[in-house]
Amino acid sequence: MNGSNKQPESADAVVIGGGIIGTSTAWFLARQGLNVVLCEKGIIAGEQSSRNWGFIRKQGRDPHEIPLMVHSLEIWEDLYTRSKADIGFHKGGTLYLSETEKRYQANQAWFEHAKTFGLDSRFLSRQELQTLVPEIQEQKLEALYTPSDARAEPELATRAIADVAQSNGATILEQCAVRGIDVEAGKVSGVVTEQGRIKTSTVVCAGGVWSGYFCRHLDIVFPHLKVISSVMATEATSFSMQQSLWSSGLGMRKRQDGGYNIAFGGSSDCEITPDFIRFCNRYISSYRHSKETVSLKLGSRFFKELSWPKKWSFDQKTVFEKERMLDPRPNEKLLNEAYQLLGKTFPNLKNIAIAKKWAGMIDVTPDELPVISEVSNLPGLIISTGFSGHGFGIGPGAGKVTAELAMGKIPTIDISCFSLSRLQK
Ligand SMILES: Cc1cc2nc3c(=O)[nH]c(=O)nc-3n(C[C@H](O)[C@H](O)[C@H](O)COP(=O)(O)OP(=O)(O)OC[C@H]3O[C@@H](n4cnc5c(N)ncnc54)[C@H](O)[C@@H]3O)c2cc1C
Repeated sequence: MNGSNKQPESADAVVIGGGIIGTSTAWFLARQGLNVVLCEKGIIAGEQSSRNWGFIRKQGRDPHEIPLMVHSLEIWEDLYTRSKADIGFHKGGTLYLSETEKRYQANQAWFEHAKTFGLDSRFLSRQELQTLVPEIQEQKLEALYTPSDARAEPELATRAIADVAQSNGATILEQCAVRGIDVEAGKVSGVVTEQGRIKTSTVVCAGGVWSGYFCRHLDIVFPHLKVISSVMATEATSFSMQQSLWSSGLGMRKRQDGGYNIAFGGSSDCEITPDFIRFCNRYISSYRHSKETVSLKLGSRFFKELSWPKKWSFDQKTVFEKERMLDPRPNEKLLNEAYQLLGKTFPNLKNIAIAKKWAGMIDVTPDELPVISEVSNLPGLIISTGFSGHGFGIGPGAGKVTAELAMGKIPTIDISCFSLSRLQK
């Protein structure tokens, strides 16, 4: 990525954030001939968009997201054909095991949505599963399978999208934090970055975990919490299961380098931060469903964020420049559990060597759905964030509808369920 691009004095639109949402939005804006600038405080795909598992799945998705995900998959295929870089895109399918009766019932319940949307999801009998993946330890119950689901290499894919945006005319600025938004006569009139001002009437905030704090200087309340999820990659192996697999304990996806990404499926750590205290009452209902899989963690992040100013001056260094990239420490205990489960589920992988471990900070909204929305009391600002742990697969489609909103067009897919106002009641 060309991080040495010069910051222009004006633009048709400015996108804040170089994750999959920001890069996809910039791509679709540039494709329409708009003069667009993307500002990323660190590097393209430095945070969630390079750290995720790489599942591109319809299976198991909240039904509100399914139409956008179906459209997104079409864009992934288009990107795969047009991108010169190999992004590791492959339609290997998604497989959800049903190790317990409870999980089987949950898979059954979701299958009803698959039928409504006409997806190719189906249940595999024990024998069919054994034929598809002979190495798997015998399962007692039927597994849910969606053959048309896909996967890609998150970092390569997000960077490829930024490259396509750039070749369509977008200016991509790395190491360029946006400090704040200028407002004149009640409308967006520009942004102030660490390199100076850009005049613009349209700003897209795709800042991931940072969006809620960023919006505070505009008095916009945007609740989302930070959840840390840990992952590891195995060394390359001749084992070649192509399906991305999820059980209550294990998440697994074939990597382009021949290894697998492994994680403790569905288990993560929620950081207690000042925002957690501010917003936790809005999460009571989702916490009831996920309390077995989410642990609350009080650490140094609480005190760091407590020291952040509520309002800040645009002519001084901000927290966005002080923390260019979130790089949380992986949870070794959860990764060990995943490793044990891997050996139990696939005895042939029992002693496989681990090549690397990492973690990512996920931004989660109270209803675990994103916000892709105009801001009613600030014309010119679009928020596209809060993808709650499933924004990679849906990212290209989300970028497309975000760009459409920014251009004042009716989005290709109905996104009224992703309004900001639903979280402000
Ligand atoms: C471990 C893990 C596993 C996951 N697995 C999957 C999966 O398998 N499938 C799936 O679909 N999703 C998955 N996700 C979720 C997915 O990664 C995210 O939903 C998605 O990447 C969010 O993209 P984003 O662009 O909104 O945010 P990010 O990728 O976090 O990008 C936001 C960017 O904005 C920048 N930024 C913030 N503030 C400013 C500012 N003021 N100025 C300039 N830049 C700024 C940040 O530096 C950051 O680079 C997973 C996430 C994690 C962490």
